[in-house]
Amino acid sequence: MSLIADRVDNIKKNIAGAALKSGRAPDDITLIGVTKTIDTSRMAELVELGVKHLGENKVQELLDKYDAFSKDTVWHMIGHLQTNKVKYIIDKVSLIHSVDSLKLAEEINKRANNIDVVMEILVEVNIAEEESKHGIVVSEVHGMMEKLRHLPNISVCGLMTVAPFVENQEENRLFFRKMNQLFIDIGENFNNNIDMKFLSMGMTNDYEVAIEEGANMVRIGTGIFGSRNYHTL
Ligand SMILES: *Cc1c(COP(=O)(O)O)cnc(C)c1O
Repeated sequence: MSLIADRVDNIKKNIAGAALKSGRAPDDITLIGVTKTIDTSRMAELVELGVKHLGENKVQELLDKYDAFSKDTVWHMIGHLQTNKVKYIIDKVSLIHSVDSLKLAEEINKRANNIDVVMEILVEVNIAEEESKHGIVVSEVHGMMEKLRHLPNISVCGLMTVAPFVENQEENRLFFRKMNQLFIDIGENFNNNIDMKFLSMGMTNDYEVAIEEGANMVRIGTGIFGSRNYHTL
């Protein structure tokens, strides 16, 4: 078995274990392979293993790689997205995880309208209120939902967060729990084009605890490909 196959196998087992612990089926959890800085041949190896959801954090990199994959590859934009770049990816990605302003949501709505689609998005929450992170803070989430409700060409499908970098994933448990409470609360209080179905949280260092606390999408890069080399691509 290749190294990547071996790691994916292990991750899938861990995902299944955490899903069962939180009363869900392993299949309820979507594994997104985070492929930033990874070349297309290694990415293809991942897709071969059945991981069809790929996450990129830069528009240019996604565009460079996009044509190397078949149409059943599902692309996720997970990184900070500039308003002026929405037009390049609107017809390519299935879900934008990183919506953190009304201005960005309005641009996505406009571009989606132009090509007659409804774009699925997540609202990014800076759950630990870290200076270095993108996303809106918890106190802004309800107000944001109130505004997004009125944009017909986006569908708000859930929340995303990048939790603090920690050595021990237990340190993030309360942040994930808080995200899940917010996720449930928004789901109960909003309808229209707001349908809370995806809770995107958990990365290499903390995906098991994230799933135990309610995540149903995890974004894993290092755990699959090893440490990234930012200079080769
Ligand atoms: C890079 C990245 C990940 C994956 O991080 P790993 O620690 O390598 O698993 C997940 N989410 C976002 C938004 C990222 O930029």
